[in-house]
Amino acid sequence: MEIFTDIINWQAARDSGYNDGSIGFVPTMGSLHRGHLSLVRYSLKENDYTVVSIFLNPTQFNNPDDLKHYPREIERDQILLEKAGVDALLLPDYGQIYNDDYRYQVIETEFSKKLCYASRPGHFDGVLTVVLKLLNIVQASRAYFGEKDYQQFQLIKDMARAFFLPTVIVPCPTIRESDGLAASSRNLNLTAVERKLAPKFVRRLRSEQAVQNVIAGLETDGFRVDYVEDIGDRRFGAVYLGPVRLIDNIELKEITK
Ligand code: AMP
Repeated sequence: MEIFTDIINWQAARDSGYNDGSIGFVPTMGSLHRGHLSLVRYSLKENDYTVVSIFLNPTQFNNPDDLKHYPREIERDQILLEKAGVDALLLPDYGQIYNDDYRYQVIETEFSKKLCYASRPGHFDGVLTVVLKLLNIVQASRAYFGEKDYQQFQLIKDMARAFFLPTVIVPCPTIRESDGLAASSRNLNLTAVERKLAPKFVRRLRSEQAVQNVIAGLETDGFRVDYVEDIGDRRFGAVYLGPVRLIDNIELKEITK
Protein backbone atom coordinates (compact mmCIF):
# COMPACT_ATOMS: atom_id res chain seq x y z
CA MET A 1 0.00 0.00 0.00
CA GLU A 2 1.36 3.39 -0.98
CA ILE A 3 0.92 6.14 1.61
CA PHE A 4 0.61 9.78 0.57
CA THR A 5 0.72 12.64 3.04
CA ASP A 6 1.25 15.12 0.23
CA ILE A 7 -1.56 15.70 -2.25
CA ILE A 8 0.83 16.73 -5.02
CA ASN A 9 2.64 13.39 -4.72
CA TRP A 10 -0.67 11.54 -4.92
CA GLN A 11 -1.72 13.49 -8.01
CA ALA A 12 1.57 12.65 -9.74
CA ALA A 13 1.21 8.96 -8.83
CA ARG A 14 -2.43 8.94 -9.96
CA ASP A 15 -1.51 10.32 -13.37
CA SER A 16 1.29 7.81 -13.89
CA GLY A 17 0.44 4.57 -12.02
CA TYR A 18 -3.34 4.65 -11.49
CA ASN A 19 -4.58 5.93 -14.84
CA ASP A 20 -4.84 2.56 -16.58
CA GLY A 21 -7.93 1.37 -14.68
CA SER A 22 -10.88 2.39 -12.52
CA ILE A 23 -10.34 3.91 -9.08
CA GLY A 24 -12.70 3.26 -6.16
CA PHE A 25 -12.50 5.73 -3.28
CA VAL A 26 -13.48 5.37 0.39
CA PRO A 27 -13.20 8.60 2.43
CA THR A 28 -13.03 8.11 6.23
CA MET A 29 -12.11 9.87 9.44
CA GLY A 30 -10.15 6.86 10.72
CA SER A 31 -10.53 4.63 13.76
CA LEU A 32 -11.66 2.03 11.28
CA HIS A 33 -14.21 -0.67 12.04
CA ARG A 34 -16.18 -3.32 10.16
CA GLY A 35 -18.41 -0.65 8.59
CA HIS A 36 -15.48 1.11 6.92
CA LEU A 37 -13.95 -2.20 5.87
CA SER A 38 -17.17 -3.29 4.17
CA LEU A 39 -17.00 -0.11 2.03
CA VAL A 40 -13.39 -1.01 1.19
CA ARG A 41 -14.46 -4.51 0.14
CA TYR A 42 -17.15 -3.13 -2.22
CA SER A 43 -14.52 -0.86 -3.75
CA LEU A 44 -11.96 -3.68 -4.14
CA LYS A 45 -14.57 -5.82 -5.87
CA GLU A 46 -15.80 -3.17 -8.30
CA ASN A 47 -12.55 -1.33 -9.24
CA ASP A 48 -8.99 -1.92 -10.41
CA TYR A 49 -7.56 0.31 -7.66
CA THR A 50 -8.86 1.25 -4.22
CA VAL A 51 -7.89 4.51 -2.54
CA VAL A 52 -8.81 5.28 1.09
CA SER A 53 -8.40 8.62 2.82
CA ILE A 54 -8.14 9.23 6.55
CA PHE A 55 -8.74 12.86 7.43
CA LEU A 56 -10.32 13.91 10.72
CA ASN A 57 -12.14 16.90 9.28
CA PRO A 58 -12.37 19.70 11.86
CA THR A 59 -14.88 21.78 9.88
CA GLN A 60 -17.63 19.19 10.40
CA PHE A 61 -17.29 19.25 14.19
CA ASN A 62 -19.32 22.00 15.76
CA ASN A 63 -18.39 20.78 19.25
CA PRO A 64 -14.64 21.09 20.01
CA ASP A 65 -14.92 18.44 22.76
CA ASP A 66 -16.35 15.95 20.28
CA LEU A 67 -13.34 16.51 18.00
CA LYS A 68 -10.92 16.29 20.92
CA HIS A 69 -12.32 12.95 22.06
CA TYR A 70 -12.82 11.45 18.59
CA PRO A 71 -10.81 8.18 18.60
CA ARG A 72 -7.51 8.17 16.69
CA GLU A 73 -5.80 4.86 15.82
CA ILE A 74 -3.73 5.59 12.77
CA GLU A 75 -1.17 2.77 13.07
CA ARG A 76 -3.87 0.15 13.56
CA ASP A 77 -5.86 1.65 10.65
CA GLN A 78 -2.87 1.38 8.33
CA ILE A 79 -2.38 -2.30 9.17
CA LEU A 80 -6.08 -3.05 8.55
CA LEU A 81 -6.05 -1.29 5.18
CA GLU A 82 -2.80 -2.92 4.09
CA LYS A 83 -4.20 -6.36 5.01
CA ALA A 84 -7.45 -5.63 3.16
CA GLY A 85 -5.49 -5.01 -0.06
CA VAL A 86 -5.94 -1.25 -0.42
CA ASP A 87 -3.64 0.30 -3.05
CA ALA A 88 -3.23 3.83 -1.73
CA LEU A 89 -3.88 5.61 1.56
CA LEU A 90 -4.14 9.41 1.60
CA LEU A 91 -3.22 11.04 4.92
CA PRO A 92 -3.40 14.78 4.25
CA ASP A 93 -3.21 17.34 7.07
CA TYR A 94 -5.43 20.41 7.56
CA GLY A 95 -3.16 22.74 5.58
CA GLN A 96 -3.15 20.37 2.60
CA ILE A 97 -6.93 20.11 2.42
CA TYR A 98 -7.77 23.66 3.51
CA ASN A 99 -5.23 25.64 1.48
CA ASP A 100 -7.95 28.34 1.50
CA ASP A 101 -8.43 28.06 5.31
CA TYR A 102 -12.10 27.19 4.65
CA ARG A 103 -12.90 30.45 2.81
CA TYR A 104 -14.75 28.43 0.15
CA GLN A 105 -17.64 26.28 1.35
CA VAL A 106 -20.37 24.09 -0.13
CA ILE A 107 -23.74 24.97 1.37
CA GLU A 108 -26.95 23.08 0.70
CA THR A 109 -30.11 24.91 1.65
CA GLU A 110 -32.87 22.32 2.18
CA PHE A 111 -32.23 18.74 3.29
CA SER A 112 -29.09 19.74 5.24
CA LYS A 113 -31.33 21.97 7.40
CA LYS A 114 -33.32 18.98 8.67
CA LEU A 115 -32.57 16.14 11.14
CA CYS A 116 -28.96 16.62 12.37
CA TYR A 117 -28.98 20.35 11.63
CA ALA A 118 -30.65 21.49 14.86
CA SER A 119 -27.91 20.13 17.12
CA ARG A 120 -25.05 20.26 14.60
CA PRO A 121 -25.43 23.49 12.56
CA GLY A 122 -22.65 23.82 10.00
CA HIS A 123 -21.88 20.10 10.14
CA PHE A 124 -23.00 19.33 6.59
CA ASP A 125 -21.28 22.45 5.19
CA GLY A 126 -18.04 20.93 6.50
CA VAL A 127 -18.90 17.46 5.20
CA LEU A 128 -19.89 18.61 1.70
CA THR A 129 -16.89 20.92 1.41
CA VAL A 130 -14.36 18.26 2.39
CA VAL A 131 -16.00 15.58 0.23
CA LEU A 132 -15.96 17.88 -2.82
CA LYS A 133 -12.26 18.55 -2.23
CA LEU A 134 -11.48 14.83 -1.76
CA LEU A 135 -13.49 13.79 -4.83
CA ASN A 136 -11.56 16.36 -6.91
CA ILE A 137 -8.24 15.17 -5.48
CA VAL A 138 -8.87 11.45 -6.07
CA GLN A 139 -10.86 11.63 -9.34
CA ALA A 140 -12.30 8.19 -8.73
CA SER A 141 -14.76 6.32 -10.93
CA ARG A 142 -16.79 5.41 -7.84
CA ALA A 143 -16.89 6.61 -4.23
CA TYR A 144 -18.46 4.56 -1.43
CA PHE A 145 -20.57 5.92 1.44
CA GLY A 146 -22.42 4.16 4.25
CA GLU A 147 -26.20 4.23 4.59
CA LYS A 148 -25.65 4.48 8.34
CA ASP A 149 -25.15 8.20 7.69
CA TYR A 150 -28.07 8.35 5.28
CA GLN A 151 -28.63 12.11 5.37
CA GLN A 152 -24.93 12.53 4.55
CA PHE A 153 -25.09 9.97 1.70
CA GLN A 154 -28.17 11.67 0.19
CA LEU A 155 -26.60 15.14 0.38
CA ILE A 156 -23.36 13.91 -1.23
CA LYS A 157 -25.24 12.10 -3.98
CA ASP A 158 -27.28 15.24 -4.70
CA MET A 159 -24.12 17.41 -4.63
CA ALA A 160 -22.44 15.16 -7.19
CA ARG A 161 -25.45 15.61 -9.47
CA ALA A 162 -25.73 19.37 -8.83
CA PHE A 163 -22.07 19.99 -9.70
CA PHE A 164 -21.82 17.41 -12.51
CA LEU A 165 -19.10 15.48 -10.69
CA PRO A 166 -17.92 12.48 -12.73
CA THR A 167 -17.63 10.13 -9.73
CA VAL A 168 -20.53 7.72 -9.15
CA ILE A 169 -21.70 7.88 -5.50
CA VAL A 170 -22.37 4.32 -4.29
CA PRO A 171 -24.45 3.59 -1.15
CA CYS A 172 -23.41 0.65 1.08
CA PRO A 173 -25.62 -1.06 3.67
CA THR A 174 -25.22 -0.36 7.40
CA ILE A 175 -22.98 -2.86 9.17
CA ARG A 176 -24.19 -3.77 12.66
CA GLU A 177 -22.71 -5.50 15.69
CA SER A 178 -24.32 -8.82 16.63
CA ASP A 179 -26.67 -7.03 19.05
CA GLY A 180 -27.90 -4.67 16.30
CA LEU A 181 -25.94 -1.54 17.22
CA ALA A 182 -24.62 0.17 14.07
CA ALA A 183 -20.80 -0.04 14.00
CA SER A 184 -19.36 3.42 14.68
CA SER A 185 -16.01 4.88 15.73
CA ARG A 186 -17.86 6.68 18.51
CA ASN A 187 -18.98 3.35 20.10
CA LEU A 188 -15.46 3.17 21.57
CA ASN A 189 -16.33 6.15 23.77
CA LEU A 190 -19.32 4.40 25.40
CA THR A 191 -18.96 3.10 28.96
CA ALA A 192 -19.70 -0.61 29.52
CA VAL A 193 -23.17 0.25 30.87
CA GLU A 194 -23.95 2.60 27.95
CA ARG A 195 -22.68 0.01 25.44
CA LYS A 196 -25.15 -2.50 26.85
CA LEU A 197 -28.03 -0.07 26.53
CA ALA A 198 -27.05 1.26 23.07
CA PRO A 199 -28.68 -1.51 20.91
CA LYS A 200 -32.08 -0.58 22.35
CA PHE A 201 -31.86 2.52 20.13
CA VAL A 202 -32.28 0.61 16.88
CA ARG A 203 -34.74 -1.84 18.47
CA ARG A 204 -36.97 1.14 19.38
CA LEU A 205 -36.57 2.62 15.88
CA ARG A 206 -37.75 -0.67 14.42
CA SER A 207 -40.73 -1.03 16.76
CA GLU A 208 -44.19 -0.57 15.33
CA GLN A 209 -44.92 2.46 17.54
CA ALA A 210 -45.53 6.00 16.30
CA VAL A 211 -42.58 8.39 16.46
CA GLN A 212 -43.81 10.12 19.65
CA ASN A 213 -44.00 6.78 21.47
CA VAL A 214 -40.56 5.74 20.22
CA ILE A 215 -39.16 8.99 21.67
CA ALA A 216 -40.93 8.44 24.99
CA GLY A 217 -39.64 4.86 25.19
CA LEU A 218 -36.05 5.91 24.47
CA GLU A 219 -36.23 8.59 27.17
CA THR A 220 -37.53 6.03 29.67
CA ASP A 221 -34.58 3.77 28.75
CA GLY A 222 -32.14 6.59 29.60
CA PHE A 223 -31.32 8.03 26.16
CA ARG A 224 -31.37 11.79 25.59
CA VAL A 225 -33.25 12.05 22.31
CA ASP A 226 -32.11 14.54 19.68
CA TYR A 227 -34.72 13.49 17.10
CA VAL A 228 -36.73 10.61 15.75
CA GLU A 229 -38.42 11.46 12.45
CA ASP A 230 -39.95 9.68 9.48
CA ILE A 231 -38.94 11.22 6.15
CA GLY A 232 -39.72 9.51 2.84
CA ASP A 233 -39.37 5.76 3.25
CA ARG A 234 -37.01 5.97 6.27
CA ARG A 235 -37.10 6.49 10.00
CA PHE A 236 -34.14 8.57 11.21
CA GLY A 237 -32.93 8.88 14.80
CA ALA A 238 -30.21 10.54 16.86
CA VAL A 239 -29.69 10.07 20.60
CA TYR A 240 -27.10 10.83 23.25
CA LEU A 241 -25.71 8.44 25.85
CA GLY A 242 -23.66 10.69 28.11
CA PRO A 243 -21.63 12.87 25.73
CA VAL A 244 -21.69 10.26 22.93
CA ARG A 245 -24.06 10.93 20.04
CA LEU A 246 -25.40 7.92 18.14
CA ILE A 247 -27.27 8.14 14.83
CA ASP A 248 -29.07 5.47 12.90
CA ASN A 249 -31.84 5.00 10.36
CA ILE A 250 -33.96 2.16 9.04
CA GLU A 251 -36.25 1.67 6.09
CA LEU A 252 -39.89 1.95 7.22
CA LYS A 253 -40.47 -1.51 5.73
CA GLU A 254 -38.11 -2.91 8.43
CA ILE A 255 -40.60 -1.90 11.15
CA THR A 256 -41.68 -5.07 12.95
CA LYS A 257 -45.38 -5.81 12.96
P1 AMP B 1 -16.55 8.19 9.08
O1 AMP B 1 -15.16 7.70 9.30
O2 AMP B 1 -17.42 8.10 10.28
O3 AMP B 1 -16.59 9.55 8.41
O4 AMP B 1 -17.21 7.19 8.04
C1 AMP B 1 -16.63 6.96 6.78
C2 AMP B 1 -17.63 6.21 5.92
O5 AMP B 1 -17.94 4.96 6.54
C3 AMP B 1 -18.95 6.97 5.74
O6 AMP B 1 -19.39 6.80 4.41
C4 AMP B 1 -19.86 6.27 6.71
O7 AMP B 1 -21.22 6.34 6.36
C5 AMP B 1 -19.35 4.83 6.61
N1 AMP B 1 -19.76 4.05 7.77
C6 AMP B 1 -19.55 4.35 9.08
N2 AMP B 1 -20.13 3.42 9.87
C7 AMP B 1 -20.72 2.52 9.05
C8 AMP B 1 -21.49 1.33 9.25
N3 AMP B 1 -21.77 0.89 10.47
N4 AMP B 1 -21.95 0.67 8.17
C9 AMP B 1 -21.68 1.11 6.92
N5 AMP B 1 -20.97 2.22 6.66
C10 AMP B 1 -20.49 2.92 7.70
